[in-house]
Parts: sequence; structure tokens; C-alpha cells
Amino acid sequence: MKNMEKKNHMETSMSPVHPEKMRTAAPLPDTVIGPQIDYLKGYLLEEIKDGLYWVTDGAYQAMFLTTGEGVIAVDAPPSIGENYLKAIAEVTDESITHVIYSHTHNDHVGAMSMFPDDAVYVAHQEVADTLAKRNDPNRPVPIITFEDKYTLEVGSQKLELTYYGPMHEPGNIFIYAPNQKVLMLVDVIFPGWTPFKDLAMAQDVPEFLAAHDKVLEYDFDTYIGGHLTRLGTPDDVQIQKEYFQDIQASAGKANQEVSFMAIGQEVGFSNPWLVFQIYADAITQQCADEVVPKWIDRLGGVDLFTYDHCWKISESQRID
Ligand SMILES: [Zn+2]
Repeated sequence: MKNMEKKNHMETSMSPVHPEKMRTAAPLPDTVIGPQIDYLKGYLLEEIKDGLYWVTDGAYQAMFLTTGEGVIAVDAPPSIGENYLKAIAEVTDESITHVIYSHTHNDHVGAMSMFPDDAVYVAHQEVADTLAKRNDPNRPVPIITFEDKYTLEVGSQKLELTYYGPMHEPGNIFIYAPNQKVLMLVDVIFPGWTPFKDLAMAQDVPEFLAAHDKVLEYDFDTYIGGHLTRLGTPDDVQIQKEYFQDIQASAGKANQEVSFMAIGQEVGFSNPWLVFQIYADAITQQCADEVVPKWIDRLGGVDLFTYDHCWKISESQRID
């Protein structure tokens, strides 16, 4: 089936994929398997525990809580869109009274404006500042903001929002439901999978790497990462931590072994960018060649994005 799809793409002159860019991927390990989604319906809705639900379309994840006094909704990915409202309506007649931003990125919160105008929007101060600058009607500027910690209690439910600094981006918060032992932190841990390229576009590499231990300090059973096929557990966090420890070790070794001067002497120094490009690529490739075989059966997508993680981490080791 994969081969047939590939062939069809290549025969179509209007294919959106350039033939040379058409790549295949390694078979996925079982670690990526999550609950089956009814693609005609368009989303999956499941109660994790005691009125805390997650909604997913297989690519994005959001969560909401019924409280007896209104619904608290966290994030609103445009890919799920109005199906999020349908999902909420499946389990409650309560109106949506509180809305929380995990961070500012449009792919997770770009449908926030579909919630009622009189809902209370909550976010970290950095998120409010950024959204005020973006001036995007789809992402209303939050009304309640905080710097370090904010506890939201509505009816029977409680959420603890905490900020430890930028990991993915300034204002990205930990959202913890102590009664259900559920922790949501978006774009940091990807249960069963490698993160999206460049540490999922992390803005602060050392803090992103340190985030794994911060997450593991929490007493949680279920992790909501915001992406892909399934929820996570503390084990998934530990596994991703080990993956990045391997990348850090291999990147550090490559940074020591690959010689900028040796490459320059071979290539010539008339174009320093060329020397640097070959130098950085040699380090990145050595790191990826070491790490990929160790992890290809343990996380999905390792063959696709390990190179980018090696680049980001080896560069961070040189500059941060
Ligand atoms: Zn993001």
C-alpha cells in the first residue's frame, strides 16, 4: 500500500511532494499504538478519571473537566475545532466557563475564540503579553494571568497551574489535576514517539532537557502531551529522558572528535560558512548515526527527527 501511494504520487505531475523529497520511514514500533479513532466521527473522547476528559483527532490532544458549575477547557487545537464542542456536549449540558492556555502556539490554541465570550480565559503573563502583540481574534487575550502559580477551583474540580520558565516557549505551563493525578504539559514529552524536529521547536534547549526531571517530580498517573496517538505515563517520560541523554552524550562526543580546523584545511577557508556547514553536518551526522540504531525500536519517528535533535543539542552545547 505504501509503495502504491508512492508510485501514484510520483506519476502525478501536480503532486505536492517533490519526488526527490518523497521519503519512506522505518516501520513504527508498538510504542506508538493508541486507542482507535473513528475517523468518520473525527475525534475520540475518553474520560480519564472523575470528570476529566481528553479529546483527540490522532494528531492533537486537548482536555476538559466537568465541575458541576461549568466546564473548564484546556487548549483548542484548530485540527479538532468544533468537534471539541461536540465532545463536551456528549457528556454535559454545562456551559464552558473557564478556558486555559497551555501556551500561545496557534496549532494548539487557534480555535480558542469558539468558546463563549463570557468565559474566563486564564494563562501565564508571558502568554498574555505575546497574544496582545499577535492581535489574533482566534486567540483572545486572557483575562486572568499569573507569574508563578495559580490554582483554579471550580465546583468539584481543581487545577494547579505552575510556571517554571521557558522550556518549549515563554509562558508554557504545567497543568496538574491533583485529584485525578493527571499532568498536562504540551510540546515537551511525546509518549511513544520522538518529539517533532528540533526538540519540538524548543526555545530553550537546556530548560527543555531539564523539563523531564521537573515532570517526574509530579505525582501523576497520566500525562497529556498535546500530540499524537496516546496518553503517557511516568515511564514514557523516563524513556524520553534516556533518549535525550543518549543524544547529549553522542553530540558531546562528536563535538570533541570532529575538528573544525581539519575540515577547513581540506575545504579551504575562503567561504567560512561552507566550512561551518560541513563541520556542523559532520557532528550532527555522527550523533544521529550512533543514536538512531539504539532507539529505532523504542520510539516512533526516530529515523525522521533524531538528526534534527542532534543538530539542536550539539549546537546548544557549543553556544548555551
Ligand atoms: Zn507549541
